Amino acid sequence: MALEKVSEILKMADRAKTSAIAFNCVDYPMIKSVVKVAEELNKPTIIMLYPEHARDKHWTTPAVFAAAVKTEAKKVKVPIGLHLDHCSDYNYILAAIKEGFQSVMYDGSMLSVEENIKNTREVAKAAHALGADVEAELGRVGFANTVTDQSDEDMYTKAEVAASFCEQSNCNSVAVAVGTAHGFYKETPKLDIQRLKSINAATDVPLVMHGGSGVPDEQLEIAFREGINKFNVGTEFFYLYYQTMQEFCSAGHPDFFDLPLLAQERLENYLRTKMLLSKL
Ligand SMILES: [Zn+2]
Repeated sequence: MALEKVSEILKMADRAKTSAIAFNCVDYPMIKSVVKVAEELNKPTIIMLYPEHARDKHWTTPAVFAAAVKTEAKKVKVPIGLHLDHCSDYNYILAAIKEGFQSVMYDGSMLSVEENIKNTREVAKAAHALGADVEAELGRVGFANTVTDQSDEDMYTKAEVAASFCEQSNCNSVAVAVGTAHGFYKETPKLDIQRLKSINAATDVPLVMHGGSGVPDEQLEIAFREGINKFNVGTEFFYLYYQTMQEFCSAGHPDFFDLPLLAQERLENYLRTKMLLSKL
């Protein structure tokens, strides 16, 4: 089928009191493996591009990436959404929407709440006019390698600000900081479920969790039940891809062109376990 709007997938997740899983990808083998497993398990799934991987690292371009996701989505019956992850550049966001991204994240988490609202609102106005959804971030999901980020409560989302933030910014979903961080954790994170419950009670806007690599499944199950409707996975998935390539090379595999097939098989095994966390 054609690409599904991310807001529709999040509505399905909300109704089922669970979360859709969103995977960061950089190339066709990754995209192909996500779509294949989504179809196999019949799990509506979101595929994301992190702008830096296109703009700075030249893995792909937004147009090439969008075309690949669209092409693969068309071959299957399960809903597949396409999303541009963390971006603070208005022009880049608009260009990506025009190239086929029907959902984008405007990341104003480094700004004051007032400025974050102002910028998110501006992006939402332009994005909505083009039929695209906008994910915002309130509070700040930092980096796991700084040790303190996931436990720094000053960075956590404040429930009392959530309702007015969502209303004024016109966002379609909001990433919240409740104890996760990006990258590999040095210590097992402990989610602030009480805070998540309060945020969820304060707003009807679907909540998004970033920094999902390494959060124990038991905690995720609770978080999905208590309001998380989109769960982003990047680090673990990329690391597995990297490891697979490394093993392939050090094993002196005779045919370089077999790498995508071998990688996809490994990625698919991982994706099965991750997607089954969703009750969709
Ligand atoms: Zn993130």
